[in-house]
Amino acid sequence: MTVLLDSRSRKALEIAAGASRWTRLVGRAFAVPSQSDPRQIYVTSADTCTCPDSERHPDQRCKHSTACALVLALIDSQPEPRPSKLVPTREDADTIGWDRPVYAPISDTDASRLMGRL
Ligand SMILES: [Zn+2]
Repeated sequence: MTVLLDSRSRKALEIAAGASRWTRLVGRAFAVPSQSDPRQIYVTSADTCTCPDSERHPDQRCKHSTACALVLALIDSQPEPRPSKLVPTREDADTIGWDRPVYAPISDTDASRLMGRL
């Protein structure tokens, strides 16, 4: 099934690709840099975020929370023992463009497949 991605999901994939730059806080919460200003840091979990968008639309998942949920899903899908750091499988890393200096857009099919993991 191919799902057309909205721009928020597209941005969430870009943020998830840079997850090695996040800082793990307590439990499943992370310090996630803003896309527009990396000096700005948001405290983000899969359900909550301190960004302005999340304040404006508390009923919707922001791009940071979506990225967080996706990365956690990629980690959780791995067999035990899971990596202690945020490291996806090689295949997932290649698909999402993990830690590339410049985000390379991924195909709609791959993007849909990844978002389908949520
Ligand atoms: Zn957010």
